Amino acid sequence: MAGLTHLGVGLAAKRVAPKTPLWALVVSAYALDFLFGVFWLLGIERVPGEDVEASSPYSHGLFMAAIWSALAGLTARRISRDTRTGWVVGLLTFSHWVVDFISHPMTAVFPRDTGLPVFFDDSPKIGLGVWRTKTGMNIGEYGSLIAGAVIYLFTLRKLKKEEA
Ligand SMILES: [Zn+2]
Repeated sequence: MAGLTHLGVGLAAKRVAPKTPLWALVVSAYALDFLFGVFWLLGIERVPGEDVEASSPYSHGLFMAAIWSALAGLTARRISRDTRTGWVVGLLTFSHWVVDFISHPMTAVFPRDTGLPVFFDDSPKIGLGVWRTKTGMNIGEYGSLIAGAVIYLFTLRKLKKEEA
């Protein structure tokens, strides 16, 4: 979750990874949510509802997020044959967890949200809960998207100048 913030992070990453295509940066920043979608379709994970708590340990637990990030980074390095791209993709994948850690529990939208598990469902749930209030959520979502977009545009301008 924290949808727009991940987009902001992906856009901003262009600054440190000018050679990596933007789509790869954005896909990496959202990768854990794609995994959640797969686990959700399989009926293994769920969004918090009126009377059920959230459960997303395989996509959003700290332990599994670290493993997915390492796998994403190694795969990207293999495909691109570029170590820097590998690091950028790996770190961006993990940035998703960090952003979600800051935002969850998002009780402004999901009253039964509990935060992210450290390992699996029986482990402690953690999160700073900035999205606990609508105000925190709006500032977080739009603020980070605008910041990311501005960084991206400045990066494009800089790259153009270097080309010329
Ligand atoms: Zn997420």
